[in-house]
Amino acid sequence: MTDLAPRRKLSDKLLMASSLVIVIALLAITVVFTVYTEHEARTSLQQDLKVLARVVGSRSAAALVFEDEAGAMTNLRSSALNKSVTRACLYLPQGALFASHRADENGQNCPPDLVYEQDGVMETGEELVAAYRIQDAEDTIGFVAIYANTDRLTEVLNNALSVTLLTLLCLLPIVLIVLKRLIRRVLEPLSGLHHTAQKVAENPFSAVRATVYQNDEVGQLVSVFNAMLDKLGEENQALLGSEHRFRLLAENSPVGIYRMDASGTIVYANDRWRALTGLSADATRADLLASIRSGDQDRYENLLQKMRVQHRPQVIEYRYKAQSESAESIFMEHLAPLLDQRDGKTRFLGSIGSLMDISELKSAQLELENLAFYDPLTSLPNRRFFRDHLHALMEQPVPGAQRIAMLMLDLDDFKKVNDTLGHDTGDQLLVILAERLRSQVAKQDVVSRMGGDEFMILLRDSDIHATVERVAERILRSVEQPILINNHELEVTASIGVAIYPDDADSVEPLIRNADLALYLAKESGRNRLSFFSRKLEVDLNEKVRLERKIREALRCDAFTFHVQPQWSMNEAATVSCEVLIRWHDEEEGMISPAAFIPVAEHSGLIVNIGEWLIEKVLQTMADNRQALEKMGVRTFAINLSVKQLFSSALVNTVERLLKMYQIDAGMVEFELTESAVMEDGLLAIEVMQKLKALGCRLSIDDFGTGYSSLAYLKKFPIDAVKIDQSFVGDIPNDQNDMEISAAIIAMGHNLGLEVVAEGVETQEQLDFLQTHGCDIAQGYFIAKPMPFNDMIEKVPALRVAPNQGVPKSLGQ
Ligand code: C2E
Ligand code: CA
Ligand code: CA
Repeated sequence: MTDLAPRRKLSDKLLMASSLVIVIALLAITVVFTVYTEHEARTSLQQDLKVLARVVGSRSAAALVFEDEAGAMTNLRSSALNKSVTRACLYLPQGALFASHRADENGQNCPPDLVYEQDGVMETGEELVAAYRIQDAEDTIGFVAIYANTDRLTEVLNNALSVTLLTLLCLLPIVLIVLKRLIRRVLEPLSGLHHTAQKVAENPFSAVRATVYQNDEVGQLVSVFNAMLDKLGEENQALLGSEHRFRLLAENSPVGIYRMDASGTIVYANDRWRALTGLSADATRADLLASIRSGDQDRYENLLQKMRVQHRPQVIEYRYKAQSESAESIFMEHLAPLLDQRDGKTRFLGSIGSLMDISELKSAQLELENLAFYDPLTSLPNRRFFRDHLHALMEQPVPGAQRIAMLMLDLDDFKKVNDTLGHDTGDQLLVILAERLRSQVAKQDVVSRMGGDEFMILLRDSDIHATVERVAERILRSVEQPILINNHELEVTASIGVAIYPDDADSVEPLIRNADLALYLAKESGRNRLSFFSRKLEVDLNEKVRLERKIREALRCDAFTFHVQPQWSMNEAATVSCEVLIRWHDEEEGMISPAAFIPVAEHSGLIVNIGEWLIEKVLQTMADNRQALEKMGVRTFAINLSVKQLFSSALVNTVERLLKMYQIDAGMVEFELTESAVMEDGLLAIEVMQKLKALGCRLSIDDFGTGYSSLAYLKKFPIDAVKIDQSFVGDIPNDQNDMEISAAIIAMGHNLGLEVVAEGVETQEQLDFLQTHGCDIAQGYFIAKPMPFNDMIEKVPALRVAPNQGVPKSLGQ
């Protein structure tokens, strides 16, 4: 702030101005007074002269009448009483001078003749003249003229002027002193204010305040000024507080914070920033740039420039190597411009930067990416990598007639390994198999783990089918090799589905889907094998989807019914039970075989709903025909249960509920389970079977002989009967082997206390053979075909025929 002292003090200015005004006023008064005094003196003189002329004239009348010159003279002399009168003149009516008097010997004489004009006073040059007409009765006998000079008027004027000027001179100093005092008094608060303002200018937030003397305008001004200072003080205090907090925050921030001015000098940096950069707080942008990896420097500078121009915050990642460090760090910096916006213009003042070391984050990210692309268990590429890689391969032009084969491999029954030997063993198995797969393919071929026990292999060749067959065969054989884990020798097999690019699909997802369909086929057709995708497979599967839709519809419309097939006791020569077989009559397609739709219903899970419906329907029918059944001697209804049904959580409860509801003796209900169903999850199967047994139901193993299990093994399950699979029965008496198997099953079954049922009995020979070997029950077309329940009630009495007498042919049809 520059010198605030004024060039001329305000008090002096005021003093001068008011003095000037006073002097002018006094001068004006003087002039007016003087002029007035002079005017008064002149009027008074004129008046005096007028009176004098009349007095002298009146007195002189006698002297004129008597022509007494001496008397006239005496009269005229009396005019000398007035000091201004210079001469008095008496004239005859025609104007001739009759007598005269001069006040001064050397003065002018009266004019010798004078023409009377009128009474009154007139001015002639330096003189005043008063005339008076003298009358005797009506006649004018003369006139008098008295002359006076104005010298005395001038004198009066001068006196008056002197007096007033003198007075003025005497008054002026007093006036000035009073004025000065007055001005000082008025200006004192202002000067106080000025003083305070000066102090405030030196220290804007000092506690000094101006004094309020009076509550006048100046006093109010001072109050406002003080209030303004208070407010400023408070705001400053608040500002200091927040600045302190921010500083504290910045100082202790885990992020490096610094401020750079517009020239690139670092004007503030917190400890963290110094520690990160290894620079001192007075470093410049150039120092910072010098430690940034050369490749990133340009980017950094461009960014700074961008921030300067666009006035927008920027974020950048760069590699940085502090002088003191040996390793390079990765920094992430957030730069925010500091702007000054005034008068519609924006000025760039510098920037605030916040710096973080994200090196660890980056390596973690890298690790994550690895995790994202590799399977941590087998170290094989994962599903994501596989997709990306396949996608990349598809993008490249396929050289020559090359094709890409995608092999989808899935272990058969891996779940069993996990369930029986634990997940650790399962994991070890997967690791070993992953190595085996890797060793069976060329280096450039991709083997990846898609999750669980599913693997994908990519092969490239022009004669792709031959290659796939060769490699897949090798793989299947290598998977089969026994594996020793924790003293357990494991044997697993795998199924492989293959889809070929571009023949089977021209993009990743459809190719995977088609390989999956092929795998499904491989599983369906018996596992441990290879299946290629084909359009037919696709059509079949589409057909499955269609069928599935129809099944749902059929369930809704109650389009299912069931038939019963009598089971004939050889010992009692009578029908003692029957098997329940579902039937579906579709409006469009007629009868649809359960062999066609049961697998589809099984696959989709709809079998559970169908099964529930069927069990209820059968129990209801049994309840409705209780007496007829008793009379007939039919004691058991065998209902087929598929895997999904067996393992459905609702099964036991449903059976229990329905048995109660229809008051059916549980011993009249038998459930047929296939060998493969109970083998799928042995432990769970036993659990469910025990619950069904606890209810009182009978259990039998269906299609026995087709699986790998032995009867001894099956005895672990709480079963009552086995059904020899019809493929063995059908070959009697042609196949010696099947006949032996059938005989063995009967013998062993009896050994284990099980009832033995033979199904698919179509001929007398078969029946005879079975009876000879002691089979308990026969079921088949030779006895009766499956039929509606009501038909059975009609026909069964006719079946009471001794078996060796044969069964009426008509019933078999
Ligand atoms: P399955 O349990 O083995 O049933 C026996 C099948 O053999 C029945 O076929 C029956 O009609 C047929 N059959 C009976 N006697 C003879 C014979 O002397 N010669 C020949 N060639 N065949 C005979 P269907 O009714 O077509 O059933 C086929 C399969 O569908 C059944 O095989 C069973 O696995 C399944 N199934 C049928 N009904 C149901 C059901 O209600 N639930 C479940 N889960 N599956 C069912
Ligand atoms: Ca059956
Ligand atoms: Ca069967």
